[in-house]
Order: sequence, then structure tokens, then C-alpha cells
Amino acid sequence: MLKKDNHKTILLRQLPGVDELLRTPSITALLKEHPRPVIVKAIQAALKKQRQDILSDQINQAIDLSSLPESSLRTHLLPHLTKEINRLVVRQTSPNLKKVINATGIILHTNLGRAPLSTAAQKAVQAVASGYCNLEFDLNRGQRGSRNDLVAALCTHLMQVESALVVNNNAAAVLLALNTIARDKEVIVSRGQLVEIGGSFRMPEVMRQSGARLVEVGTTNRTYPDDYRQAITEFTALLLHVHTSNYKIMGFTQETSLTELVSLGQEYRLPVMSDLGSGSFVNLTSFGLNTELNVFEVVTAGVDIVTFSGDKLLGGPQAGIILGKREYLAKMSKNPLFRAIRCDKLTLAALEATLRVYLDLPGALEEIPVLRMLRLKKEELEKQAKVVTDHLIPVLKDYARITIEPAYAQVGGGALPVTNLPSVAVVIQPLKQSVTEVAACLRNEEPVVIGRLQENCLWLDMRTVQKDEIELLVKALKNVMRK
Ligand SMILES: *Cc1c(COP(=O)(O)O)cnc(C)c1O
Repeated sequence: MLKKDNHKTILLRQLPGVDELLRTPSITALLKEHPRPVIVKAIQAALKKQRQDILSDQINQAIDLSSLPESSLRTHLLPHLTKEINRLVVRQTSPNLKKVINATGIILHTNLGRAPLSTAAQKAVQAVASGYCNLEFDLNRGQRGSRNDLVAALCTHLMQVESALVVNNNAAAVLLALNTIARDKEVIVSRGQLVEIGGSFRMPEVMRQSGARLVEVGTTNRTYPDDYRQAITEFTALLLHVHTSNYKIMGFTQETSLTELVSLGQEYRLPVMSDLGSGSFVNLTSFGLNTELNVFEVVTAGVDIVTFSGDKLLGGPQAGIILGKREYLAKMSKNPLFRAIRCDKLTLAALEATLRVYLDLPGALEEIPVLRMLRLKKEELEKQAKVVTDHLIPVLKDYARITIEPAYAQVGGGALPVTNLPSVAVVIQPLKQSVTEVAACLRNEEPVVIGRLQENCLWLDMRTVQKDEIELLVKALKNVMRK
């Protein structure tokens, strides 16, 4: 026991000081690239860890120091210290928000930032971010302008509506609409549509926040026009239709259609609003997706207001887009709440560029990444999977079983909850590590790679991996699997 404690004391004496470490060549190299305070902090943390490892004997598990002469101990401790310092500095200086290769097969993954931006939108953000811009400056009149005007005309033109208003996200859009039109009044909604969207957007709670009173009608599975009719009173301000984005009620069901709601609204002179959630500017049925998420169809059904997200099927930045009748939207734009939930210049730059892409519809199908991913054919996905396996199998054959398998991708983001898109995955079964270890290491790579874990295998769905990410994906896998 005495001998062991003695050994620890000897080891502790060998630990270099901060100044000495700052003079070692590998740390001097770090000093050229990173701020000194960051490095000093990393040195202190690494020394503290080394001291603890010595005291708890863990140091002997990492390196066998017991048989070494005292004179060479320091030479053996030093590389460990500098490696740890390097690791800490890299972690401290790399951003928290990083690029991720999404191999989950979920196209609109809210945790992974939903829609990737088109090249046009990326360029627009870059151009505006690098200097000043005419965010609220009317260049024709040389006077103060409105930031909403930057995108409103594109929206009204594309969707043939009277007016458009853009806010931070769709939750904010719904809040603004309800607060403006129905504060201290009643809003009628079907029980089957009182949804909770992931991340705590619950329709009844948003309604309460807006100051509107919720009047639920019908039952979970069936709501008829008469249910709405019987609930209409002098206090009713709005008939609301909510798209049940992330679930579907099947079997014995009856939903009152938007057209039926619109005729009720006309009969009682009440506005009708649709919270569409994931709104699309293209006809998704043309590529085999059966949906009611077409914004233009909702508008032509005659609703007064429709709201949807910018970063779901539209394929743009996070935003809430409100389209509809001028009389209602003008009121919303005067609501003080509007000022609190307005978009910033980078969002507006990306949104304007995205909307411009839609002016040429065939072009949009290619240029908007979300639409491109939705339309990818099985053959293209197989080809992409083959490129990955051709690179991996020769290098990793001793480390993993690698195959190509049919898979199902999903739209995600609260759109088409029961639609599975046939897809193709590269499936990796590690032979020398557990699949959770592999997944953890991939989360440390740059870029980060996120796949799907299933029965001791890592599934990498090709539908959500962009073409220019293949090389990076292969590199990350080689790095991680050969550890
Ligand atoms: C996604 C969704 C929302 C919330 O939209 P955000 O843009 O995430 O704020 C609201 N309602 C419906 C029906 C949705 O699908």
C-alpha cells in the first residue's frame, strides 16, 4: 500500500506545469491557430484529469508506468496530456451547430433542421448576410419600406390570393391569426383535429394563448357540417380546419370537408381558416403521393385564411406563411404581436429565393431539395447505394457486413404520416464494435452522420443523403469502422 501511494506521489511530481506545456512543440503549434485563453483552459482541464487518473489508478490502465524508471515517466505521460489538450481545444473551438448528413430516410426531420435549402436560397442568404440590405427600404421611392413586401407579391402571384403575410414559423402564424380574429370570441374546431405537433404545439394551448375560446364539435372520428352549425352563436368568430399532420384516423370516419366549411362560413358570414401545417406549392399527387396538402387547392376551395410552414414541403427556411383575404390579413399586420414574431433578413432572403424558384415549376422540382428527394426513383437510389458499398466493402470487409437492402423512407415534418416511400439503404453490421458505439462515433465525425439503428445494424437510407455528401459519408464510415 505504501509502495503504491509512493508511486502515485512520484507520478504526480512528474506532471508538467502550465508554462512548460505551453512551450512544448505540439502546443506551440496549437497556439498559432487558437486563442491562448482557450488553450490554457484546456491545459488546466487536462492536467486536472491526469491528476485524478493518477490518484484513482486509472492512469495505469491507459499506460503501464509501473515498470518504468522514474527518469522516463515524464516522456510517457506527456503524449497523453497533449493528446487530451488537443481534443479539448478542438471541442471548444468547433461550432455547436454543425452540418449533418441525414441518412435516416426522414426527409423533413425536425430535429435535423427540416428542409435543406436550394442553391438559390443559400446564395441569397450569403449575399444578404455579408453586408447591408434594403430590408425595410423602398428602393423605388427612396423611403422607408416594409419587409413583408419583399415576399408578399411573389406569394400572392404564385397562389392567386389577395394578400400574404410572413412570420417566424407556422405556430406564430396560427397564434397571430387567432389573436387578431378571435380574441375573446369563439373558434369552432372538430374534436378530430385538436392535434399536438411534435415539440409541444398543441392546438388547444395555442388557442388559449391567443385569447380565443375553443369550441370543440363532433367526436374524435366523425364530425358533420351540422355539428358546426349547431355550435355557431353570436360569439363565434372563426371556423377552423386543422390538418391532422402527424396522424390519421382510419376506419369509421367522417370529416367535414373544407368546401362544406366554406359554404357554412358563407351562410353565417364567418371567416374560415385552414392551418395546413405542411403546405406544398406543387401537386404531389403527380408523383404518386396522395395528399390534401396543396396550398392552391385549399385557396381555391374558398377559405379566407390559410397558414403553413416555410420549412416543410415548401422546402424553404423556417417561416410561417399566411395567405388569404386582404380584410383579415390587414388586421393581422396591424396587431402588435406581428412585430414580435416578424422574420429576420436572412430568412426573408432565403424565402424570397425559394419562392422565385417556384416561378418555373419544372425547374422547382429539380432545384428544391425536398421535392428532388421526394421524387427520387428506386434505380437512382440503388445506384447511389452501390457507389457507397463499392467504396466500403473492399476496405471494411474485416470490420463489417455490408449489404444493400430495400427500405422505407418517410416525408416527416408532420406530413403524410402513413405514407412510406419505397427506398434503398446501405446496411452495416459491425463485427468488432457494437452498433451503438459506431453510431456514437459517427455523431463525432465531421460532418456528423445520423442513420437508423435496427436489429444490431446501422441503416443508411439513401433517399435523404445528398449526391455531394456521398464522399463525406464514405470517409466518415471508413474512419469510424476501422477504429
Ligand atoms: C407543423 C405544424 C404546425 C407548426 O408549424 P411550425 O412551422 O413548426 O411552427 C402547426 N400546425 C400544423 C397542422 C402543422 O403541421
